[in-house]
Amino acid sequence: MRIDSRAAAAGLDDADELAPMRARYALPDGVVYLDGNSLGPLPIAAQERLAHVISHEWGRRLIRSWNEAEWFTASERVSGRIARLVGADAEEVAVADSTSVNLFKLLVAGCRLRPDRGVIVMDRHDFPTDVYIGHSVAELLGRRLRMLDGGEPAAALDGDVALFALSEVDFRTGARRDVPAVTAAAHRAGALALWDLSHSAGALDVDLTSAGADLAVGCGYKYLSGGPGAPAFAVVARRHHDALRTPLPGWTGHADPFAMDPQYRAGHGVAQLRSGTPPVLSLLALEEGVCALDGVAPAALRRKGSALTQLFIELVESRCPGMGLRLVTPAEPERRGSQVSLRHPAAYPLVQALIRRGVIGDFRAPDIVRFGFAAAYLRFVDVWDAVEQLRAVLTAAEHEDPELARRHTVT
Ligand SMILES: *Cc1c(COP(=O)(O)O)cnc(C)c1O
Repeated sequence: MRIDSRAAAAGLDDADELAPMRARYALPDGVVYLDGNSLGPLPIAAQERLAHVISHEWGRRLIRSWNEAEWFTASERVSGRIARLVGADAEEVAVADSTSVNLFKLLVAGCRLRPDRGVIVMDRHDFPTDVYIGHSVAELLGRRLRMLDGGEPAAALDGDVALFALSEVDFRTGARRDVPAVTAAAHRAGALALWDLSHSAGALDVDLTSAGADLAVGCGYKYLSGGPGAPAFAVVARRHHDALRTPLPGWTGHADPFAMDPQYRAGHGVAQLRSGTPPVLSLLALEEGVCALDGVAPAALRRKGSALTQLFIELVESRCPGMGLRLVTPAEPERRGSQVSLRHPAAYPLVQALIRRGVIGDFRAPDIVRFGFAAAYLRFVDVWDAVEQLRAVLTAAEHEDPELARRHTVT
């Protein structure tokens, strides 16, 4: 169906089975939020929960809350909910640390599972932290990094490769890799598959188990709406639990933390990936973020996310022709994540001009305007409104306003 008016877009919202989920989020009036792939919005329940946790659990009950309010087991509760979203078992998921730290732990652990192989495969265009951590692990363990240049991993996977670590969705372009196919290629070569699901969890129909993936990491503050700096997650397939050995053996990952044993004895499986005391406030906010996705199948999130990105692409083509915008994201829906990136020569001020009009996307160097489409709270009319504002900005050349050229610290 061709959508050529706001009313037609509203018709899609009327038929949207996920529409009621929007009420679970505190979205400010007058804002079309297309940056939930960078910082998910506040779940309403997190606001109430944190107020209670701070005033009562921390403020009045103090250290008793570790037991009474079940702070110590919170990461296990959250693991169970994230497991459902990525197609893993609860016992295969740990919630801890940042994505960067989890990647470090699993890269080292993955190399240790393939001790006689000297190569780690990554992609130079991946999120910079992934690449930096990859270099450090290679140096520490005396392995070599084999860098892809955005291409297909299959050709780089041979008998020397211990594992690859790749993002399912490219943070810049939104291109999506075929997780089952690339995982199978790694296994044919005897290598392990480590996926970064930062731009997948909570948006795509990830199924690590059916793909046969070995290891995964991902972010808690993007589509999972865990709040700024929320803890991240790490997944290890059950078949690797006996041999797993973390390089960061902290006391909370010990088999019996309160024995205060001078000798480290790893907790079984992913339990050992808890390298220290969890950030309780952030962890409980993340719990509300993942609870906000309760009752919805990842496949339903994926279906709607795909429809939102498709509508956005079609409207940019039909409503903004000849305005200097170039689609970077793959046009085939199955080859992209829940994101659309456009190239424009004045990308930075263009994003600033859109933000001034209440359409929040972001800029990624050097010339990309990036929009994330979270199925949980976005409406089809939001897509319509965003494209109309984009058209208005470009028609009036608002992005040429010199005020908008100054770069902020966070872009
Ligand atoms: C967002 C993101 C990260 C973030 O890492 P932090 O350690 O949580 O800051 C890492 N990798 C990828 C691919 C990401 O998209």
